[in-house]
Amino acid sequence: MFWRQIQRENFTRFEDLANYLELSEELRSQVLKRPRFALNVPRRLAAKMAKNTLEGPLVRQFVPLEDELALSPGFVADPVQDSAFRQCGKLLHKYSGRALLVVTGACAMHCRYCFRQNFSYEPADKGFDQELAYIRADETLEEVILSGGDPLSLGDEALERLLSAISSIPHVRRLRFHTRFPIGIPERIDDSFLSILAAVRPQVFIVIHCNHPRELDPDVVTALKKLRQLGIPLLNQAVLLKGVNDSPEVLLELSKALLNAGVLPYYLHELDRVQGTAHFEAEEGRGVEWLRFVQHNLAGFGVPRLVREEAGQKSKTFITSDLPSQAPGSRAPV
Ligand SMILES: *Cc1c(COP(=O)(O)O)cnc(C)c1O
Ligand code: SF4
Repeated sequence: MFWRQIQRENFTRFEDLANYLELSEELRSQVLKRPRFALNVPRRLAAKMAKNTLEGPLVRQFVPLEDELALSPGFVADPVQDSAFRQCGKLLHKYSGRALLVVTGACAMHCRYCFRQNFSYEPADKGFDQELAYIRADETLEEVILSGGDPLSLGDEALERLLSAISSIPHVRRLRFHTRFPIGIPERIDDSFLSILAAVRPQVFIVIHCNHPRELDPDVVTALKKLRQLGIPLLNQAVLLKGVNDSPEVLLELSKALLNAGVLPYYLHELDRVQGTAHFEAEEGRGVEWLRFVQHNLAGFGVPRLVREEAGQKSKTFITSDLPSQAPGSRAPV
């Protein structure tokens, strides 16, 4: 398993990464040496960071800054209140027709804006018997979403067992992965994994998480193509992040790069207001305007939906107006 070897070479120590990025003493002092959410950066992504700067789309996503220590009003540990929707153990059944399985707490990388960073998602028991029983018992569940953490952190054997168990539930028609592996460690998309995917009965969808066009290099594009060749539609989910993709030009370039790689932009998420991430919040109320620029320069299928997660709603909330956020229900109809 070549990809495991690559993963073991991720940067996890501040000194190693700071030396690699040739950071000056002054810049080093702005980096958090022992962040609560550990440093974890694949070499491929570090290689895309400019030297001796803490500005730039890659560095900001993955290098922990002192800013994470700031306490900002409205930024809390669990803004999406997932904990309230845990059905059993590792299953979140929040929306009708689909349920999300937290397959593992492990990821290919640690993204500084992640809304899951305040939780230990590492399940105590590794099996999924209880969760599978829940899915089997609820015939309205046509879609199972594998998330985490990153479901591709699981080894192929465990993944194969899980996928074949899900495939054996007749009412499950769609199986969706949410993963950042293709961006950080595309070597994960190897022949063994591809042959496991090819045997899955429900229609598979893969949602990748790419926030900036620079993340899509030729190896990544090749890995994505192998997935598409199995008849798997590819979608992208991005987060609107200050200093990463908060401009109309970058959002247009991102959409173009995704389309060129055969990936449809699905969602552009507003930041979940997680403690320690206030420095990622883009200027309020500009997202719709920026996406209109994308809409005016690209095919309609290149325009992602701007969404936010609101606790207690039946789905993600589509943001369709530039007006600052109001109480749910008072927005213009979609
Ligand atoms: C976001 C999310 C989903 C998926 O929502 P879609 O709109 O179908 O992409 C499902 N379950 C949970 C708990 C979620 O947070
Ligand atoms: S890969 Fe996803 S779950 Fe993991 S840290 Fe990044 S955003 Fe969070």
